[in-house]
Amino acid sequence: MKAVVTGGAGFIGSHLVKALLEGGAVVHVIDNLSSGKREQVAPGAVLHTEDVRSAEAKRIIAAVKPELVYHLAAQADVQQSILAPSLDASVNVTGTINILDACKEACVNKIIFSSTSGVYGNLAKERITERDPAIPISFYGLSKLTAERYIHMYSQLYCLSYTILRYGNVYGPGQTAKGEGGVIANFMERALGNLPLYINGDGEQTRDFIYVGDVVRANWAAANYGDQETIHVSTGKRTSVNRIVQLLRDMHPAEIPIHYRPAQSGDIMHSCLANQKAIKSLRWDPAVSIEQGVAETYRSWSQHQ
Ligand code: NAD
Repeated sequence: MKAVVTGGAGFIGSHLVKALLEGGAVVHVIDNLSSGKREQVAPGAVLHTEDVRSAEAKRIIAAVKPELVYHLAAQADVQQSILAPSLDASVNVTGTINILDACKEACVNKIIFSSTSGVYGNLAKERITERDPAIPISFYGLSKLTAERYIHMYSQLYCLSYTILRYGNVYGPGQTAKGEGGVIANFMERALGNLPLYINGDGEQTRDFIYVGDVVRANWAAANYGDQETIHVSTGKRTSVNRIVQLLRDMHPAEIPIHYRPAQSGDIMHSCLANQKAIKSLRWDPAVSIEQGVAETYRSWSQHQ
């Protein structure tokens, strides 16, 4: 099996590339290294240092002729999207259209798209399902939702198969403190650097934190299941930022000072995604608890200090 992974030098993409190689796939990565790192790309993959908006990205997909395209490359920083909405739209919308065009021209079987719980905005609901309305409150959420709509339309017009995976807050080894869901990485970096933790708001905001290994398994499952579906990749559980701090304090040998500061614009108070559809359609379920995942992430950060 041949696969192209856009954003394969980034946090989630690099884990996915490794898993695909281990599963015997031939893997090509398209990444402009704007936030990703060359050394994160597993040695068996071919790295093309190109922008997903470029004609060269299309030429690579035409030449490789992959069965699958995993499209992860994105401007994935919510605050950055508020500061620079046109850059955000350019990468996340125009970049996706360029990759869809390439898929159409190269007769790719399926595109698997990394989307986000951010499309729902501040929906006041205990557990969001895929049928709930998507009303983003950041340009990032809007650009990812718009990219999803382009995927639907390409699929209708050109019979391109797809699965859209909407992730909760992904965390795990290799994540940097920037970007979406980077709160755990930010806390690890600061605690291990003997710096205080800053919490936006009162820390009682909750997220559906999903371990990167579980996200990779969902992408793997989407190669065979979940055609023409939009599916949550999540735990279905709420974990507060204060709970993450507590887990970290339990593991870390030194005292960790905490400072609370005002919430940021575009921040969502609670976010929890139902995962029944993934369990049924992808034959997948999350295997790593928050306690295991935070411990594994802490171990990895400690080793790289
Ligand atoms: P990341 O920033 O680590 O990875 C993104 C990668 O895309 C980087 O390697 C970057 O260099 C590359 N990239 C950015 N712009 C590009 C461009 N114009 N051309 C080519 N490459 C480009 O982010 P991540 O956390 O690994 O996220 C991967 C995907 O998952 C993104 O689509 C993101 O929106 C989505 N997602 C992430 C989370 C999360 O919690 N991390 C949650 C929901 C959805």
